[in-house]
Amino acid sequence: RKNKYIRRHYNNLRKRFQKAKKPKAVVKINNKEQRIMKDIDHKLSREIVNTAKAHDISVIKLERLQNIRSTTRTSRKNNHSLHTWSFYRLATFIEYKAKLAGIEVEYVDPAYTSQICPICGRIQHAKDRNYTCRCGYQTHRDLLGAINICNSTEYIGNRYTA
Ligand SMILES: [Zn+2]
Repeated sequence: RKNKYIRRHYNNLRKRFQKAKKPKAVVKINNKEQRIMKDIDHKLSREIVNTAKAHDISVIKLERLQNIRSTTRTSRKNNHSLHTWSFYRLATFIEYKAKLAGIEVEYVDPAYTSQICPICGRIQHAKDRNYTCRCGYQTHRDLLGAINICNSTEYIGNRYTA
């Protein structure tokens, strides 16, 4: 959510300088935004790996979104691929720091991780941030994803870039 806020802020600045025809200012803003996002990913990955270390965790499981290579550079304009791309960066930072800490990273297929009920196996979409199943199970959407990734046996590799 914080990332979203930062992105919106820089999008507004970008538009303003584009209108004012100040291309150098636009480049400056783009670079600054990238530095900030990169810094956040470094801190996040550090925190994730440190938490794993503190709890003697030997494996960190992540989702690997599909078609990463075709979307990294070519179509960063659209939001979905932007999301894919920023997740790719975070994932590779986690990989790097985990490796140094002797922790494995495993990628699993993301299919249904945000939809399947871990209790009864029904598939349904979360409404807003909440996931409620007909069996009575209820949780935050992100927590559901984490639980399903954790339970997943759909192993698809240990590197984001094949
Ligand atoms: Zn259920």
